[in-house]
Amino acid sequence: MAVLDEPIKEVRTLKNYIGGEWVESKGEIVDVVNPATMKTIAKVPISTKEEIDAAVQAGQAAFPDWRRTTPLARSRLLFNLKELLEENFEKASRIQTQEHGKCIDESRGESRRGIENVEVACGVPTLMQGYISEDVASGIDEWCMPTPLGVFGVIGPFNFPWMIPLWSVPYAIATGNTVVVKPSSEVPNSQSFLCELAEEAGFPPGVWNMVHGGRTVVNGMLDHPDIQGITFVGSTPVGRDVIYRRCGETGKRVIAQCGAKNFMTIMPDCAIDNTIAAMMTSFFGNTGQRCLAAANAVIVGEDDKFYEEFVAKVVEKASQIKIGYGLDESVQMGPLRDKAKKQNVLNYIDIGLQEGAELVLDGRDFTLQGDLPDDCFVGPSIFTNVRPGSRLGSEEIFGPVMSIMRAKDLDEAIRITNENPFGNGHSIFTQSGKAARYFQYNVVSGNVGINIGITAPVAFFPFSGMKDSFFGVLHTQGKEAIRFFTESKVVIQRWF
Ligand code: NAD
Repeated sequence: MAVLDEPIKEVRTLKNYIGGEWVESKGEIVDVVNPATMKTIAKVPISTKEEIDAAVQAGQAAFPDWRRTTPLARSRLLFNLKELLEENFEKASRIQTQEHGKCIDESRGESRRGIENVEVACGVPTLMQGYISEDVASGIDEWCMPTPLGVFGVIGPFNFPWMIPLWSVPYAIATGNTVVVKPSSEVPNSQSFLCELAEEAGFPPGVWNMVHGGRTVVNGMLDHPDIQGITFVGSTPVGRDVIYRRCGETGKRVIAQCGAKNFMTIMPDCAIDNTIAAMMTSFFGNTGQRCLAAANAVIVGEDDKFYEEFVAKVVEKASQIKIGYGLDESVQMGPLRDKAKKQNVLNYIDIGLQEGAELVLDGRDFTLQGDLPDDCFVGPSIFTNVRPGSRLGSEEIFGPVMSIMRAKDLDEAIRITNENPFGNGHSIFTQSGKAARYFQYNVVSGNVGINIGITAPVAFFPFSGMKDSFFGVLHTQGKEAIRFFTESKVVIQRWF
């Protein structure tokens, strides 16, 4: 394999970024391993309670001056950051691939989506305006103005190491708050690099803090009286049972974006080739490690000929996917993030077989491009005859496994979809406007796709979710994020 340009060249022990200083942690140090090469690329601290406390204190200390900084001046710093993100676009993308494993084009997409949130947050001078009514009673005026609250905690998952904190941070700081980011300790390099760029952009010390680690840091945020709110993106058990519950107990506002099991309804009138192309990126892109990855395809109708032809084409396309190191531009699917995630996929393949589903493409049997250890790699798997309520058909696998089901009509497809506890990103593929509207109206899903495989809202729309996929009221991104990071202060004024 040709030598690929890996931006992380030496193994550094990462530091926390607190109050504008790079601070060595006293916590345990663990290895960060590139899942394609199995080489250690960094060491990350699992920070202590004292360290998260210090970061919250730094955020709290910076808050009064930052709040007084005009929205225009705050926005100018975001413009600086946007320039730096563009200049470092390729490096940031390559870091994502090196630490996560995704293909370089997927990382470039992630970098772009992150930048878009900075661009939207630059509009804070108008996005943050309030509203006023004259003479609500005789001689009395009343207005509502959004005001920042203080320090927010931002907790990220492993699957989008660069972009996901950017769903929150630009809006939090644009509105005059300060933040403490806790990246996933599995992929900490991306946020470390982002903090370096934030420092270069000129944000005052204490506005943007980052503490590496795991539960101790999260618990430190949840318990800290000076943390006003939390945005969390991760699995449902953690988001619902830890984050949402504890924020309720301690009175913090919260956005908890959680797990998923996304269904694609395939109508017999769909544009077949376009549909299959969209399915490939949705099921197998990011190696299935997307909260908006499709997991189940429900093929509608009793036409066996359509069903058989459709499945044959899907299997053919999926079996052609090139697997290897994501920095190789010709590769279409990288590894899973670590060995445990590969084992999880292998377990679900066994579960599917035990449940009587038919494995028509076996991801355990695959060809790897280049001379690489296969510890974290797996190929695309496709099951047919999957029962809707089975474990294979209903639990989140978070890997490249497609489960195919059949439904006699659209109503049955929607019923099967809605019976699943998750509601993150369900889609329909059809050329009928009537069927599309019926689906969009009746499906219970925060993000709905009509001939779209990955229903990821752009930065000026909220990133939604329903049922077990989301806990909270407002969402990250766009106007809802501005609303989440501000409180409505209502002023009623009379002059004697
Ligand atoms: P995870 O829940 O294991 O971890 C998320 C974060 O919580 C990490 O920072 C982790 O350190 C921390 N954490 C883990 N266990 C904890 C505990 N017991 N107490 C306190 N903190 C804890 O999730 P993950 O494996 O990193 O990410 C994958 C999950 O995220 C999938 O379920 C996926 O669907 C979901 N996800 C959802 C969205 C969305 O927008 N809905 C987006 C991306 C990923």
